[in-house]
Amino acid sequence: MKIAVQKFGGTSLATADFRSRVCGIIQATKAENKGVVVVVSAIGRDNDPYATDTFIRLIKESNPDPSPRELDFIMSCGELISGVLLVSQLSAMGIESRFLSGEQAGIITDGNYGNAHILYINPKNIIKCLENNIVPVVAGFQGISEEGELTTLGRGGSDTTASALGVALNAEIVDIFTDVEGVMTADPRIVKNARLLSAITYNEICQLSREGAKVVHPRAIEIAMQNGIPLRVRSTFSSSTGTLVTNQKQEIGSSVKILGDNLITGIAHRSNVAQIKISNSGSRDKKGSELKVFKSLALANISVDFINVQPEIIVFTVAADSADRTIAILENIDIHPEVDRKCAKVAVVGAAITGVPGVMARVVEALSENEIPILQSGDSYTNIWCLVNKEHLELAVKALHDKFELGNT
Ligand code: ADP
Ligand code: MG
Repeated sequence: MKIAVQKFGGTSLATADFRSRVCGIIQATKAENKGVVVVVSAIGRDNDPYATDTFIRLIKESNPDPSPRELDFIMSCGELISGVLLVSQLSAMGIESRFLSGEQAGIITDGNYGNAHILYINPKNIIKCLENNIVPVVAGFQGISEEGELTTLGRGGSDTTASALGVALNAEIVDIFTDVEGVMTADPRIVKNARLLSAITYNEICQLSREGAKVVHPRAIEIAMQNGIPLRVRSTFSSSTGTLVTNQKQEIGSSVKILGDNLITGIAHRSNVAQIKISNSGSRDKKGSELKVFKSLALANISVDFINVQPEIIVFTVAADSADRTIAILENIDIHPEVDRKCAKVAVVGAAITGVPGVMARVVEALSENEIPILQSGDSYTNIWCLVNKEHLELAVKALHDKFELGNT
């Protein structure tokens, strides 16, 4: 039997009406004689009653610094609620289904609370469901460690659950159903004429999502890519075929399209970045201070990005919500940084940007035409990024998208 893994994001499950759309999609796939394995995220976003962030806020009202173990328990509740609701709704439609927690679905992880990695999957309960024509509905974002402790997989973790199940079950496809048409040339919430990318390589989507395009989690893409499982990103709310992520040639009628990496895939962004500057006047003693800075931040598990080390100054960025901790750690080693908490990062992403003449010139042109100061910039083989003030973020994304003519005309 061919197997389709279908993952539904928080917005897709938010209301009974939306869930009945989801049930319709599952029913239609079953009607094609496929084994459907469903993965769910928690309902809603941010302040919604059953969203993961709501549970985090709730526990922090009792203790601002809860234990990682208990935090994982409360964070995993959202998927239990959405999964059980979906199963109930499927049953009401006469589709037999069964809810499985991460543990029951055989998702075994390391013991890293809050950001666990899946080590292996034992899909025997899922297979038993499929053999009995029952739709397994699996709680995304959670697993169990080898020591039997509940763990969560980090932000976007349900995508990872879906992709790992796709590999374990050798699925024909992993469908990521969400609230946009598919992967687009920029976040459609910011750029109205962003274009849908009908097919892209794993490489391209991986770069976009690493640079902040949260439409699919990068780890989910890596897992699918290593095992050659095709992914598709599509909307719960329309019948469009979305974006196929694959490395395979596409057959269109009698011709064959060779899928290659595009020069520019799209514009990604990340808001909420803080820039940290340590200058000599910030009491940075010359010898070995770089090492002290980066070692102490590494020890505290703070991820540092955008690093620029020059004789007179060290500049780097951290996620804005790590800024306070970063400052405290530096003050502790008698280093007094300058901090700008209101930054954002925009990235022009393409498979082979470096070496193509004029790309950087166009980036600078787009931003300067709009009077957007560049606070810092850098490049890699696959992208060029700029740090800007947060207030300029949307304009910067739009300006770059226009400059590289990525949109629908
Ligand atoms: P879900 O809850 O379904 O997992 P997410 O919020 O994680 O949904 O991801 C979908 C969102 O990703 C969209 O609503 C969109 O705003 C955002 N997004 C950012 N960049 C892109 C992009 N390049 N293409 C499509 N969506 C994007
Ligand atoms: Mg998501």
